[in-house]
Amino acid sequence: MLVDSPAHDQPAPSLYDIAVEQFNTAADVIGLDDDMRRILSVCKRELAVNFPVEMDDGTVQVFTGYRVQHSIAPGPSKGGIRYHPDVTLDEVKALAMWMTWKCAVVGLPYGGAKGGVRVNPKVLSQNELQNLTRRYTTEISMLLGPHSDIPAPDVNTNPQVMAWILDTYSMHHGGVAVPAVVTGKPLLLGGSAGRLEATGRGCVFAIEQACRTYDIDLPSQRVVVQGFGNVGSTVAQILHSIGCRVIGVSDSHGGIYNPNGLDIPSVLAYKRQMQTIVDFPEAENVTNEELLELDCDILVPAALEEQITEENAPRIKARLIAEAANGPTTPDADRILYDRGIIVLPDIYANAGGVTVSYFEWVQALQSFSWTEDEVNSRLQRIMIESFMAIHEAAEQYHVPLRTAALVRAIQRVAEFTRVRGIYP
Ligand code: GLU
Repeated sequence: MLVDSPAHDQPAPSLYDIAVEQFNTAADVIGLDDDMRRILSVCKRELAVNFPVEMDDGTVQVFTGYRVQHSIAPGPSKGGIRYHPDVTLDEVKALAMWMTWKCAVVGLPYGGAKGGVRVNPKVLSQNELQNLTRRYTTEISMLLGPHSDIPAPDVNTNPQVMAWILDTYSMHHGGVAVPAVVTGKPLLLGGSAGRLEATGRGCVFAIEQACRTYDIDLPSQRVVVQGFGNVGSTVAQILHSIGCRVIGVSDSHGGIYNPNGLDIPSVLAYKRQMQTIVDFPEAENVTNEELLELDCDILVPAALEEQITEENAPRIKARLIAEAANGPTTPDADRILYDRGIIVLPDIYANAGGVTVSYFEWVQALQSFSWTEDEVNSRLQRIMIESFMAIHEAAEQYHVPLRTAALVRAIQRVAEFTRVRGIYP
């Protein structure tokens, strides 16, 4: 017998549906016209590639990868490449759209892009990882270029992977290194001082500015960080060094908790040795789900998408959430957090430090001239402070949460590029 499925049996919205829902919420606030909505709610280019890689044992495996450009109206497209077994085209599209808004929020001359390969890189040898990276780069090379599309690190990719991308692209163009084709590369190849820590450092600048604005004494706050990769571990380290009590951290294997505060340098040393933070001696183990609901003041999701949902949002105890990850909060959870008066520093602002210093790196590479780390960090700090003030002002003007306010500013900027450039032909 056929029955109407009740509303709660509807399939969960995909990540791209979520990105479009957030876009529409902000577009409604500013009364964006339908033509512009149609243009900005789709991705400009979506490339899917299947490619073989020869493994160390002589067998061949076929991998699937993507590169998506959401917008190229403001300038070349920019965004990271992730290696993860759960990568899908839908996810990469959402992440590409968020990159467009992220670049616009902090005023960078880029549109947004994202790439990914469906792979668990942790089971590959260095040789296999290099082969996979070089072949994937070749497959998407029709899109890449220092003035067209510029990759960077993301989940499970790092400066070494960027070096292989740079070399592969450069070999296709005569062999001389083209340093501006990729950011987050090693310093030796034209990387920027401060880029490795930039996403985490930018997130801390965002937290500091929010604390100044909302009159919160940062050093006395208890902090929980989900994710202990490049971004999460940097946030934990910096906050620990300015006196905050970091009481919980986690990685993909699980979390650890000590209400008196964790000694983050020791946790880092433990992770380097054991490859995980689980079973760290001076703490109790918790699950990643429990970690998010710990009694704390500031929560920093720095792992993957859709971690804070309508299911756990009512039990979140933090009063400030800084989204170091992309897309950690669903729209349903956003509404619950807003009603509960919890401040959310949205991903497109809170983790924009990474792409901001990528922009600095690109500028340095184009000019063959490098800046000092102090220059990089102080320019980054200025951008994070000014962007916060602009977002906060829009939130007050439109009476909306910071996420919608950030999107309003971003959409207005990208729409303006699109409008002024006009439609070809
Ligand atoms: N993958 C980072 C992000 O999601 C950095 C992107 C970039 O630097 O281009 O923002």
